[in-house]
Amino acid sequence: MKIPFVDLQAQYQTIKKDIDDAMSSVMKDTAFVGGSGNKYIRQFESDFSAYLNVKHVISCANGTDSLEILLEAYGIGKNDEVIVPAISWISTSESVGRAGAKPVFIDVCADTLLMDVDQLEKLITPNTKAIIPVHLYGNPVNMEKVMLVASKYKLVVIEDCAQSHGARYNGKLVGTFGHAASFSFYPGKNLGAYGDAGAITTDSDDIASKCRMISNHGQLQKHTHLIEGRNSRMDGLHAAVLSVKLKHLDKWNTARNKNAESYSVQLNAGKIELPVVNENGKHVFHLFVIRSDKRDELKKYLELNGVETAVHYPQPLPLVDAYREAGYSASDFPVASQQCRKILSIPMFPELSAEQVQKISELINSFK
Ligand SMILES: *Cc1c(COP(=O)(O)O)cnc(C)c1O
Repeated sequence: MKIPFVDLQAQYQTIKKDIDDAMSSVMKDTAFVGGSGNKYIRQFESDFSAYLNVKHVISCANGTDSLEILLEAYGIGKNDEVIVPAISWISTSESVGRAGAKPVFIDVCADTLLMDVDQLEKLITPNTKAIIPVHLYGNPVNMEKVMLVASKYKLVVIEDCAQSHGARYNGKLVGTFGHAASFSFYPGKNLGAYGDAGAITTDSDDIASKCRMISNHGQLQKHTHLIEGRNSRMDGLHAAVLSVKLKHLDKWNTARNKNAESYSVQLNAGKIELPVVNENGKHVFHLFVIRSDKRDELKKYLELNGVETAVHYPQPLPLVDAYREAGYSASDFPVASQQCRKILSIPMFPELSAEQVQKISELINSFK
């Protein structure tokens, strides 16, 4: 029995009728391309804003674009610095570089692997304009601390919620603390489309209207190009799929938590380290990341026994080739550098069965 890392087919089978109906209505209406005239887009934007209780949701083509569009809307560019965590998917720092600004990397906490908010103040310079906290793996960052520092130095906070749809800090949904938030609906995310899609959320009318313009050729109305924008629209099919799937998000996150709980009970914590939920956080386990001193051997062992795993991420962001010119070394990010050698993401998705969790746990426990 092979156990995949994620099983999108299993999830599709549980909601097949609703998805197929939703997709065929989009086909009937030929409502393919996003924009204010597309009722599927309007519906999803309204559904997601009700879910988060935020004023504006602006759909766009993917999560990377949502970060880039937000940075542009806030006027962040040349000579500006933006603080980002040393462990994340590259979109978080890439969007800053693409905006013409400089990503300033902050090391992570050894237990949660989240950005170490206690180091924020020492990285702030007169050029610092924004902070992008990432709720990595679905584990919420201490947003109260981030907002305190941000208000002291008048910084913009853009939450990167690509891995944390439905996660909460102190009972409040992530994506509702900062000035704006970015979401990805890449198929494997906790809320995933059937292709690339993303969204920006904010309570600010001004930022919302700028983001709408930027993402749709500078227009708020057809053929009225107020600025030069770009084409970053969500497709109608994805919006229709997302409206169906959003109804299941909380239930799926509960199932992920149940699987995480079973792993935690069954895995022999003497051999590996279990994920640490941030204090006051409600984790949504986009990924279940264990740590082992023999990570590469363990990965190979699981693979040989039919269990697919992954590493998120093999290197701290500042040490990837894209940032070679900056000349960072592992000792600049001691915690991230050490942890990236140990982390291993094991299968985690709502439909993972109790038998699968048991088999994976037994294999890991039997690894010598
Ligand atoms: C997936 C992801 C993104 C980017 O989303 P895309 O939709 O793939 O462009 C950004 N940040 C983080 C932390 C991610 O995991």
